Amino acid sequence: MITPLIIANWKMAIDRDGVKAFKAGWNSKPPMESVEAVIAPPAPYLSLVQELTHVSLCAQNVSENDMGAHTGEISAEMLTDLGCQYVIVGHSERRQNQGETNAIVAQKAKRAQMAGLTPVVCVGEPSQIRASGDAVAYVTQQALTSCEGLSADLVIAYEPVWAIGSGEAASGNVASAMHLEIKAALTDQYPELRVIYGGSVKPENCAAFTMAEGIDGLLVGGASLSAESFWNICASAKGAG
Ligand code: PEP
Repeated sequence: MITPLIIANWKMAIDRDGVKAFKAGWNSKPPMESVEAVIAPPAPYLSLVQELTHVSLCAQNVSENDMGAHTGEISAEMLTDLGCQYVIVGHSERRQNQGETNAIVAQKAKRAQMAGLTPVVCVGEPSQIRASGDAVAYVTQQALTSCEGLSADLVIAYEPVWAIGSGEAASGNVASAMHLEIKAALTDQYPELRVIYGGSVKPENCAAFTMAEGIDGLLVGGASLSAESFWNICASAKGAG
């Protein structure tokens, strides 16, 4: 049985007081066991999140470059020094807003692995690709190219672009079908690959994903900003496990 992996992506949507409020709420709850709860805070708050009980630490981004003259960038080794175990790469917001290509995403993931981090490689189709019926081909190709040259220590997050922050989550069946397609496409290189779902997950709908075949966990944005809500999502996943 794979331990469900539940990652909170706080994006740039929380300030220091918010992190402190989350910490107070989270640490007052019973320890979250049987689930790997992971928090991806904005980089300046990574050390604050180390004060949370029973969580692993994840960064939201990493440089594709080695240490050196790259003003404003954060290397994979620096993230390891700060206690990170995971790093998100290729989130659709960065693909869209920072122009990150599959090749850049693969390079970032490679740097992460070289430093001992597990990359969480995000893939997902925009709404027009889903409407045209090409979602499986698009996503599996994106996954293959974004993971080129990587070793097996990775996680894929399937996040349909139309589901992120829209309130319109994929159905459990749609998500499950895509997870199985991703696993089938990558099974030669990564027979034990974990694939997690992201896109408008909430306490009310999370069981539809955690109970579904092929879904090994969740990547949660908006609903992870409150300790109560994120704890309930983790507790639901624990029930499913
Ligand atoms: C995300 O940005 O990774 C995400 C899944 O966001 P939300 O849960 O808010 O849709």
